[in-house]
Amino acid sequence: MSASTESANMYTLPHLLDTSPLAFTIMAGVLGLMVGSFLNVVIHRLPIMMERDWRQQCAELSNSGEVQPESAPPYNLVVPGSACPHCNHHISAWENIPILSYAMLRGKCRGCGAAISPRYPAVEAISGVLCAYAAWHFGFGWHAAGALLLVWALLALTAIDIDTQLLPDDITLPLLWAGLLFNCFGLGYTSLTGAVLGAVIGYLALWSVYWLFKLVTGKEGMGYGDFKLLAALGAWLGWQMLPLIILLSSLVGAVVGIALIVAFKHGRNIPIPFGPYLAGGGLIALFWGPLLTQGYLRLLG
Ligand SMILES: [Zn+2]
Repeated sequence: MSASTESANMYTLPHLLDTSPLAFTIMAGVLGLMVGSFLNVVIHRLPIMMERDWRQQCAELSNSGEVQPESAPPYNLVVPGSACPHCNHHISAWENIPILSYAMLRGKCRGCGAAISPRYPAVEAISGVLCAYAAWHFGFGWHAAGALLLVWALLALTAIDIDTQLLPDDITLPLLWAGLLFNCFGLGYTSLTGAVLGAVIGYLALWSVYWLFKLVTGKEGMGYGDFKLLAALGAWLGWQMLPLIILLSSLVGAVVGIALIVAFKHGRNIPIPFGPYLAGGGLIALFWGPLLTQGYLRLLG
């Protein structure tokens, strides 16, 4: 390919995405499916990586001065390659195509026939649909790019919180910085002032609820990860969206919580992670926040 056709292509792809909302929506959806496949790796491995890290730190503290145990083989988001957790069958590229592979394999490992969790294609599908919607909603540009990042981070946090009741700092803190940066140049969802105040007020809002709840009941109602997640959402969407996010997540949390207690006799003292509701409230505020707050203000007159 000559240099001139290459530069022509570089011009035409953004041009196509800019002028054809359908092309942009489809591209974003496909990208969402592929990233969703990677999110499955993050969701599965990040908690294990964190636990290994803690164990190693504990070991280093307890036998400081002694000979260090031989280090374990590397385990991160890239190495080792994906394998079946039951039979260690190596998962090849064609067995790793989002959704399609799950359908072709009929939800079973090719090596041992063990069932593959339907959560893998579900995460891929949710990522694909939300990314396509973000592209269609915002159109080609900075706002759509931010929405994709936010969708991926919130999806990973939701699944990890459901699995482990943790919201890893490795995701919440970079998400917070990214939100401040995103709004730094006057092109984001809110002003830089709105973003900084959003981060601070978001953190303090849940921090004060936490301490109030602890002083009154002696129990811990939520974790520090929840404060950081709301701070990150405030950094992305601005302090103006915080009341809506808290309202939406409390409403959905209360409805789902009561439903769980009634339907599954889910013990009232078993903590229900709050992160997924915050993430859900954040997504609703991202897409429809301005619309909802306008309607609300109109209701007030
Ligand atoms: Zn297997």
